[in-house]
Amino acid sequence: MDAHKKHGASFSGLVKLQKQEPQNTDHDDVVYLNFMKSHTCYDAIPTSCKLVVFDTKIQVKKAFFALVANGLRAAPLWDSKQQRFVGMLTITDFINILHHYYRSPMVQIYELESHKIETWRDIYLQYSNQFLISVSPKASLFDAIYFLLKYKIHRLPVLDPESGNILHILTHKRILKFLHIFGQTVPKPQFVHRPIQELGIGTFQNIATIAQTASVYDALAVFVERRVSALPVVDEQGKVVALYSRFDVINLAAQKTYNNLHMSMQEAVRRRTCFVEGVITCYGHETLDVIVDRIVEAEVHRLVLVDRADVVRGIISLSDILQGMVLAPAGIDCLLS
Ligand code: ADP
Ligand code: ADP
Ligand code: AMP
Repeated sequence: MDAHKKHGASFSGLVKLQKQEPQNTDHDDVVYLNFMKSHTCYDAIPTSCKLVVFDTKIQVKKAFFALVANGLRAAPLWDSKQQRFVGMLTITDFINILHHYYRSPMVQIYELESHKIETWRDIYLQYSNQFLISVSPKASLFDAIYFLLKYKIHRLPVLDPESGNILHILTHKRILKFLHIFGQTVPKPQFVHRPIQELGIGTFQNIATIAQTASVYDALAVFVERRVSALPVVDEQGKVVALYSRFDVINLAAQKTYNNLHMSMQEAVRRRTCFVEGVITCYGHETLDVIVDRIVEAEVHRLVLVDRADVVRGIISLSDILQGMVLAPAGIDCLLS
């Protein structure tokens, strides 16, 4: 990969594969890899979209309220002193702040009330990405997938190197939807007709779940420790009864209930605003193309893999699907560690 620029990592294309080039690859297997290499990030940008940018001098609490008010999940951060974008603010940052500073329902989270974004970043950046990861509009979608998975992020700004403006924030969802719509023109490879579990696309062991009787604070702790994007909520038998994703945590800001993280998961799930009915699941014997259709249609980031008794057996996330369909045929595995 190109060396990181001093103040950030912006990628103009041409990922040099760190692993070996694929050997003896069946042409059929590289259909989606070639598709992603032949389309640019610019191709996947919608004609219009809302983008909110935060100055690092504003208070974190105001920034999260602004995300809620604008119905957004993330925003690029602008450092006015350095006159450049320095990072992103996402719901994961909200989770980290709550988890770091929460004491009890009786004590207000002073740091959330008073910290500026830059104060929080000074503390947090020791453990996280220290620069903005972005791509050029001319970079291929293959590059975008590679960076999303390599850096384990869910928001990739498309930064125009000429104007210095951010044009859009790409996500796994947007890229898979683009493939779903425009990939219809390429012949379907044989592997999409194989069962998902047989293909090994997904996580099938050591699934992070949360009991419905556990508290929201417990769930935040699992998000922080396991760095997973969502938790199946389970009953005493291990049956999935709901899905609580990082996105749902923003409801605590929307409803100003972040001072009571002792609330049970059952209560949090009941109170949240969620546009998805029930839990979107799948079975291990279902084929990859069936899974892709379901996940794209439901507009969710993952499906919960269950057995006939609705007991959780795995997670099929968009990261797994893009890894399996696009990066694996290039001989790259970003989900290994
Ligand atoms: P979420 O799933 O909540 O949207 P992410 O997984 O994208 O969050 O973010 C994980 C961490 O990485 C957060 O601290 C976030 O600020 C940071 N981050 C996300 N995207 C980028 C990026 N493009 N460049 C640098 N840091 C990022
Ligand atoms: P993002 O768009 O940030 O990736 P998610 O897809 O994780 O967000 O979550 C968006 C909403 O969809 C959340 O309310 C979440 O609980 C819900 N959701 C996500 N995945 C599922 C699923 N498999 N079943 C039911 N609801 C889901
Ligand atoms: P994601 O953060 O959802 O894009 O997924 C990154 C990796 O984490 C993928 O391999 C997922 O299968 C895995 N993963 C996501 N959620 C969970 C979970 N609750 N338990 C275990 N693994 C998960």
